[in-house]
Parts: sequence; C-alpha cells; structure tokens
Amino acid sequence: MRTPLIAGNWKMNGSAELIHAFGERFRDATLPAALDIAVIPPFPYLHAAYQAFQGTPLTLGAQTLNPLNSGAHTGEVSGRMLKEFGVTYVLIGHSERRQLYQETDDHVYARTLAALNVGIVPILCVGETLEERDGGSTMDVVLRQVGHVMARLEPEQREQVVIAYEPVWAIGTGRTATPEQAQDVMSGIRAYQGEFDAQLAQQLRLLYGGSMNAKNAAELLAQPDIDGGLVGGASLKIDDFHAICQSA
Ligand code: PEP
Repeated sequence: MRTPLIAGNWKMNGSAELIHAFGERFRDATLPAALDIAVIPPFPYLHAAYQAFQGTPLTLGAQTLNPLNSGAHTGEVSGRMLKEFGVTYVLIGHSERRQLYQETDDHVYARTLAALNVGIVPILCVGETLEERDGGSTMDVVLRQVGHVMARLEPEQREQVVIAYEPVWAIGTGRTATPEQAQDVMSGIRAYQGEFDAQLAQQLRLLYGGSMNAKNAAELLAQPDIDGGLVGGASLKIDDFHAICQSA
C-alpha cells in the first residue's frame, strides 16, 4: 500500500499570516488516517512554518535547493540548511524552474542527489509541453526526464524518490489533464520503473500536478496509479487544500 501524499506548492506566494492560519486549521482537522501532507512555502517562511506546524500533520517542503552544501553562491540555499529547518521534501525540476531558470536534466539529477545525500525526499517533477503532447512525444519526454535521474541512482536511492507528473500545459492554466490522460502517462512511468525493479515500481509514489482543485481532486486521486497531488494555486486556499486532502 502506498501512502498518499498531498503537497501544496505555494510558489512565490503566501505570507507569515497564512503559515499560522494553516497551522491552526490543520491542528484538529479531520483527515484520512493514512495521508502525508506537505506545505511548500518560499524559503523565508520555512522557520515560521517549522514552528507553526508542530503538533499538526503538516510536514514541510522546499521549492528547490543548490546541489552544494555551502560556498560562494549568493542567493542559493543548500540541502543541509533546509534539513536544519525540518524540511522533509524538496521539489526538483519543477517546470517553472526548467523553463524560467534554465534547469536542465543534469541540474535536476545533481539536485536530486544532493537532496538524497542530506536525507530530504526529492519530488522529481516531470511533464511535457503542449507542443510535445500535440506532437505525440509525451511519453518520450516524460520517460527521458524520469530516466535521466532514476537510471543513474542506486536502487536504495530510487526508493526514496517521489515523482510528480505535471503536464506543463495544465500548470496554472485551469486546464486539468483528464483522469484518463493522467493515468495513461502515470501508468507508463510505473511500467518503466518496473523494467528495472518490479518491487520499486509498486512502491513508487506518483503525484499528479496541474490545476488540481477541490472539485476535480477526487476523480484524479481515484486513478490506480495516482498516489497524490502536487497542488499549486489551490494550496493557497485553506478550505480548498483541506478538501483536496480529504479526497485522498
Ligand atoms: C504546480 O505549481 O506544481 C501546480 C501544479 O500548479 P497549479 O495547481 O496552480 O496548476
């Protein structure tokens, strides 16, 4: 049995006030018994979140990390630093980082390794653009992104990774992949892992991301290969995020 994970990516949004509101709301919230929840705020809020989420089911995630531990890298944050603030998960290779900050598959691999080395769970984000989908190369693109990282890791490292399938055309657009479209790609990712290691393929947690909201979450999460969600916009609204968690 794979424990579902709902992760809320706040991107460059949110406030200290919202962190506290989440802590209060989730302290006594009714939630499924087996569910992992992560809130992924911008770096400056991690410390406040670390404190506000004590005694709640909320765990912490970060939105990226630098592959190095320390050094002359102005503006960067290392995995070792994130670990000090109780960070459990880190997003790696989110499409906004690939597109706006030129992160390549090699950068994504280096960051994944850095997260694993400090004991933070990487959430490896993969997904095709609309052009790639229309051109019929969805599976090639997604498996290239997955393979570039997973095929280079040791088996015990692969077991730690969570993969988020996020079609780029569905992120922040209000256009969600249909449950069938998401399931199709995600069963392909699991089958690809199965070629290396059947047991890992069964353990691997796969999240869907792309305009998931309180209305469409249940249907997406009911798909056999969708083990949770990476939620952007809807994760900033407490009621909606709570409702998505309840659907898991
Ligand atoms: C995301 O940023 O990972 C995401 C899925 O965003 P949204 O839910 O807003 O599409």
